[in-house]
Amino acid sequence: MSTQGTGTLYIISAPSGAGKTSLVSALLEDLPFVRVSVSHTTRAARPGEIDGVNYHFTSVDSFGAMVGRGEFLEHAEVFGNFYGTSHPWVKQTLAGGHDLILEIDWQGAQQVRRLLPEARSIFILPPSTEALRQRLNNRGQDNGDTIDRRMQEAATEMSHYVEYDYLIINDDFKTALNELKSIFISGRLTQTAQQQRYSQLLSRLLQHQPDKP
Ligand code: 5GP
Repeated sequence: MSTQGTGTLYIISAPSGAGKTSLVSALLEDLPFVRVSVSHTTRAARPGEIDGVNYHFTSVDSFGAMVGRGEFLEHAEVFGNFYGTSHPWVKQTLAGGHDLILEIDWQGAQQVRRLLPEARSIFILPPSTEALRQRLNNRGQDNGDTIDRRMQEAATEMSHYVEYDYLIINDDFKTALNELKSIFISGRLTQTAQQQRYSQLLSRLLQHQPDKP
């Protein structure tokens, strides 16, 4: 699938508790040209999560049927549950000229990079192990055992940071948000992207060139 002439695809990965979801929500408020993909998952909804907004909550059978029909751009098992990104939705959103974020784990990121090497990938890290544990505790959505397991999973997830184009340390939220925004803004200012956006302006500006010999 080519994304030429369309929006840019961004992959964002982070261990649970690094603050990825809060950063992405704030980014979406500030940058109207960015959309985020709503994944399908077989995990149960946490308190406050809304079907169709945070995730499409799906049974294992329905998820398996979607895999069988080739409807996922990527899919992976994370913490014993299945997660996947709808391929038709990604294509449609990029074709509409929006930049699109996939909030997926390192396994999904590897699959997307293979299929769409032009995708840009960002890894978000917490400032310390203590901060990570603290954030998981504060969230209060998971019990103690799950938090310990997630701390171990976090170490595995973080070991993949080298595969990503950009690295953000989420110590001060405002700083991390500005860094994240700058990646998206600079991505829209490349000569190729601007040439497409401003083709009429460019031809007007260049129409008085001196004759070539
Ligand atoms: P959570 O259950 O805490 O919302 O997410 C757990 C992990 O699953 C996170 O690392 C998140 O990035 C990842 N994840 C969420 N949606 C997808 C998806 O569609 N594909 C893949 N590969 N990972 C996902």
